[in-house]
Amino acid sequence: MIEGYIKYNTICIGNEYPEAIQIVDLQVLRNDLKINNLIGMLPDGTGYGNVSKKWDNKIIVTGSQTGGNAILNCSDYSIIHDYDILKNTLVYSGLRPPSSETITHIAIYEAKPNTKFVSHLHNNEIWNKLIINGAKTNGLSEYGTVEIALEAKEYVSGITGNAGIFALSGHKDGVIAYSDGLKSIITLIHEHIK
Ligand SMILES: [Zn+2]
Repeated sequence: MIEGYIKYNTICIGNEYPEAIQIVDLQVLRNDLKINNLIGMLPDGTGYGNVSKKWDNKIIVTGSQTGGNAILNCSDYSIIHDYDILKNTLVYSGLRPPSSETITHIAIYEAKPNTKFVSHLHNNEIWNKLIINGAKTNGLSEYGTVEIALEAKEYVSGITGNAGIFALSGHKDGVIAYSDGLKSIITLIHEHIK
């Protein structure tokens, strides 16, 4: 147990999950990452990678443990209605609890209010390149913690522009990309795959 670690808490307020029309763009992003193995499943069965979008004053995010699924249904997404970053608490609706890394997505939306999409992907080559180039968080907090969310928030607060990609220093192979547009987030990720 790391010092200061606050466990991810979820409060479910209903079964409502997004309708297909609300996630057309998010599905495009998710499918692209999935095809490129940036979202997937580790040999031990743990899913990795997740995507989210801002929708009205809510956030739609992939549900927990969906990384291994080739295609997601609407019910594989959950809607975040409220949250408390410092308490790592998410108030959601849906059939699946939101990804345990959602709090980091929320920290990006807070730091960069123009952000429409956030994705968390896993890739060793991209992660290494970003670490070497200095596009990385300060600190070595572990995934899913309040601390790593705050480190991500601190990093993007110091970046100009509406899009970016960076490594989570304490989360090996963990990368975050964010943007104000669908096309630009996909382009940004693809520029780093090469
Ligand atoms: Zn991760």
